[in-house]
Amino acid sequence: MPQIEAKKRFGQNFLQDTTVLNKIIQSMSINKRKLVEIGPGLGDLTQMLLRVKPVKAYEVDRDLCVHLREKFRKEIEEERLKLEQIDVLECFEKGSLENDSYDLVANLPYYIATKIILKALEDEKCDSMIVMIQKEVAQKFSAPFKTKEFSSLAILSQSIADVKLLFDVSSDSFEPAPKVTSSILKIVKKREFIHGVNPLFKSAQDFIGFKKYLKISFSSPRKTWVKNISSIYNKEFAKKLLNSMGIIVSARPHELSVENHLNLYEKILKK
Ligand code: SAM
Repeated sequence: MPQIEAKKRFGQNFLQDTTVLNKIIQSMSINKRKLVEIGPGLGDLTQMLLRVKPVKAYEVDRDLCVHLREKFRKEIEEERLKLEQIDVLECFEKGSLENDSYDLVANLPYYIATKIILKALEDEKCDSMIVMIQKEVAQKFSAPFKTKEFSSLAILSQSIADVKLLFDVSSDSFEPAPKVTSSILKIVKKREFIHGVNPLFKSAQDFIGFKKYLKISFSSPRKTWVKNISSIYNKEFAKKLLNSMGIIVSARPHELSVENHLNLYEKILKK
């Protein structure tokens, strides 16, 4: 293997622990969907993924792409690996990452991990994700209602997907070792969302609407939901909504469950 220095600016921490790599593979479900990897890096995870099925990979670093093209010459020739040298966020900006539905498996660059997960949540073609991210962020996405980590990220993701923190990975499984503990997060979109039969989320635009609703609801997390939402909607209307659902008007946004927020958003849409 050529000597390739990890670049901080691309969030490069290479995972070369075979036990962890195997655990990631075992967490995957077997299906016919396309498999996408973001940031293949030196290609250790890619190699394991290729044993399962063909892979489409997006890597921003030109030097790593040169290395990967060499390492996977045969797989690329046989079209079992497609590698694009590009900033994946630019691809998401243009819409869906792929034309067909896909599962995402990745050890994400931490500096943009939340952004990538949010984009993949919005992407109608993305059915599921198994992603390695900073533990703290994984806890935010997977936090159950009534725990201290429960936040708008948990509500947003859990409104359309089953979200589970699978296991932690210690920093010494990486080269170079990151300063934080990592976790593997599994996000599987709910069938009614994928098939567009959820009456609230018929398209990605509807989901983006819910994201905006949450942004307003949590604009000052310590203030009441009514106070926050009244920056856009009439205060009395907001109070009536909570009353109609049997919820006290002094409830703060994190004191409302995923279901509560979905109901409130639905009622606001019907206004
Ligand atoms: N998958 C490899 C592994 O597990 O060892 C590398 C993981 S490393 C944490 C993150 C990878 O994402 C790096 O290869 C990095 O160059 C790549 N990356 C960073 N920013 C990116 C972006 N905007 N688009 C695509 N790849 C990116």
